[in-house]
Amino acid sequence: MSDRPNLVRRTAFPSSVSRAVVTPLQPSVVYSSPDPDALDAQYEGQAQGYTYGREGHPNGDVLARMIDRMEGGEGGIVTGSGMSAVTATMLGLLSQGDHIVGGNQLYGRSLRMLTQDLPRWGITASLADPTDIAAMAAAITPATKMILVEVVSNPTLRVADMDGIEQLAKDRDLILVVDNTFTTPAAFQAHSRGADVVIHSVTKLMAGHSDVTLGYVLARDPAHAKAIYDTNVTLGLTASPWDCWLAERGLYTFDMRFERAQANAQALAELFAAHPAVESVLYPGRHDHPDHNRAGALLGGQFGNMVSFRLKGGRAQANALTRAAPQLAFAPTLGDVGTTLSHPASSSHRALSPDDRAALGITEGFFRVSVGCEPIDLLKADFAAALDAAA
Ligand SMILES: *Cc1c(COP(=O)(O)O)cnc(C)c1O
Repeated sequence: MSDRPNLVRRTAFPSSVSRAVVTPLQPSVVYSSPDPDALDAQYEGQAQGYTYGREGHPNGDVLARMIDRMEGGEGGIVTGSGMSAVTATMLGLLSQGDHIVGGNQLYGRSLRMLTQDLPRWGITASLADPTDIAAMAAAITPATKMILVEVVSNPTLRVADMDGIEQLAKDRDLILVVDNTFTTPAAFQAHSRGADVVIHSVTKLMAGHSDVTLGYVLARDPAHAKAIYDTNVTLGLTASPWDCWLAERGLYTFDMRFERAQANAQALAELFAAHPAVESVLYPGRHDHPDHNRAGALLGGQFGNMVSFRLKGGRAQANALTRAAPQLAFAPTLGDVGTTLSHPASSSHRALSPDDRAALGITEGFFRVSVGCEPIDLLKADFAAALDAAA
């Protein structure tokens, strides 16, 4: 017998009559069972238990139950990123020969998935303007199985005709998938309204602090839910327990953050509209927005934290604006507690030709602002200075 201490056998976790208030973080990838019968019972669904981290873990389930409650559904899963959620849904529910109709202003990587990746696996896609129900209907073919839309588009913040799209999916017996990232369940109850599948990039407003990458999928039909779950586990798109724990912490303040960010967004939209350096403002909460009435009806007055505007002039004015406001992070994300600026012509939409960008209304002076939770006076002063510099 060696007299070395045994460092390999784990020490028992101390018991406590008082209970931790915070959800414990459980990073264990493996779970040991008392005997093979118990493992059988778990696999057959007769007993609840975890087996292996890729298949699921407590922190993922805690987070999924919280987002279920926000969406008003049950049985959602968390995934390693918003794009994992999109991937697991597409590959779990579509097969060779199927066709999908997507909104023409989807998130950039979702667009790429539809137009470049799915075709390599024999799944074809058409894109159509989701504000135009006739265009959406015209894109449907006999092979169409699914519609994928976002309620508010990026970066021009157009609002999809969700009443029309929901009816179209029902009439044509298509799986309606709604990416609810921009709107969140606080503004748009995608599941309760009848979407077959709801997707979130939890990375954005829900987690809210730009320190985790996570996604979520909620499917209404249990067969869909199982297919998406199995695809997620097989492709290894599983979320990390650490990230789930952080996102859970972020969600406790979601309501307050979203409320504050929306109030700030409305105030900034007014400031932009009144500034001589600005050519036009895009905010669904403003009367001059082309979809203002639809946004009012669909979103119940919650017009979101995203505001876009076009500067008069071009790249020189855009450079001047970002340089004059280093405290407003110039970063291609959204939903952080702090305000971030993105410039689609040089980032998300740089692969498009200037003509294609112009067709979407994206000029060199176009900025998208993800408004955060700073005190509004501070934001107003920062933007006024930045716009003065761009004038
Ligand atoms: C960011 C985003 C995604 C992708 O999410 P990740 O967590 O970055 O993978 C998908 N859809 C929308 C609308 C997004 O904004």
